[in-house]
Amino acid sequence: MLQTAIDLTRKLVEMPTISSDSNLTLIKFLQTYLQGLGATTELSHDETGTKANLFATIGPDVDGGVVLSGHTDVVPVEGQDWTSDPFILRQEDEKLFGRGTCDMKGFIACTLAFAPQFAQANLKKPLHFAFTYDEETGCLGARVLLEALKASGRKPATCIIGEPTGMRVIEGHKGCCENTTHFGGLEGHGSMPSAGVNAVEYAARYITELLRIGQDLKPRAPASSRFDPPWTTINVGAIRGGVAHNVIPNTCEVDWEFRPINAADKSFVRQRIDTFAAETLLPEMQSVWPQATLETEIVGDVDGLMPMENSQAVALAQELTGGNSVGLVPFGTEAGLFQQLGISTVVCGPGHIAQAHKPDEFVSLPQMAECLKMLQALLVKLSR
Ligand SMILES: [Zn+2]
Repeated sequence: MLQTAIDLTRKLVEMPTISSDSNLTLIKFLQTYLQGLGATTELSHDETGTKANLFATIGPDVDGGVVLSGHTDVVPVEGQDWTSDPFILRQEDEKLFGRGTCDMKGFIACTLAFAPQFAQANLKKPLHFAFTYDEETGCLGARVLLEALKASGRKPATCIIGEPTGMRVIEGHKGCCENTTHFGGLEGHGSMPSAGVNAVEYAARYITELLRIGQDLKPRAPASSRFDPPWTTINVGAIRGGVAHNVIPNTCEVDWEFRPINAADKSFVRQRIDTFAAETLLPEMQSVWPQATLETEIVGDVDGLMPMENSQAVALAQELTGGNSVGLVPFGTEAGLFQQLGISTVVCGPGHIAQAHKPDEFVSLPQMAECLKMLQALLVKLSR
């Protein structure tokens, strides 16, 4: 079984699927493979038709059951110093090296390696596979896949997202909302500030408001919050604007992010800053020059996974892995989107996040073996 999983990882790594490129070759491979085992399969595409998600089901067409989910896209290798070709699997010292081995083609390969056993078993509850595009660029594919799932009326009970957690059961992570706010003002001579609209100064006031909101978020954190830090945080990461001491700058850009611990904080931040921009800053800017602009572009928007009391998915994953600890991770996944659809969700997969996105990314064979053990336990569970 482990050898089959290794061979499949090799196949998947050889199909590069960097987020900016099409993933159709890989998705078609997954679809053909699962169809060959008798699975029902459904594709959902992006607007360009060059990327697709696959949703596949083995077992009875009833509600409940488990979703195994993974994204098919990988991050680029540009500027990274790899020991060997990142898109040819290299096996050395119990490790599989290659782009996506850890994040997260190793997991997908394990589910495929086990799929024939699920197909042969007489499952009482369905096993679903959800393979998505564009996770690394804002979980775009999962949104489309889940819309299609909702429309189909199917209601899986639980979901395991196989992102690399070292096979630890992860019950939550914060969301991550990345923004770039653009200020468009009016140029002028530095000696006549009131004749221009100083984009950098308006950006500074915007940032000051962000910092104020950041302070107000701290007391909003529930006492039970297990996140570190326990509250929603805001970070201003970059500011670009201006040319010289004596010129009123007409453009400025601010890159900022916030990491909400819950949906209420997410709308709190958006409302506070958008209201300040629309009702205070923009009218002032436009009173000097009506064409002045202030716009926030949402660059990334990953929903958080809220830790839940008595989570069905946590209980399931603990039973399957035999691990009774449960934790949180600092990175984002598609899990929050599944949770919002009412599917109890955890993150649990082979490999460690520290080995992802890096040159010489790898997943270790013992980690793959542990993942296969979890799937074996799942097989028993779904057959009962
Ligand atoms: Zn990932």
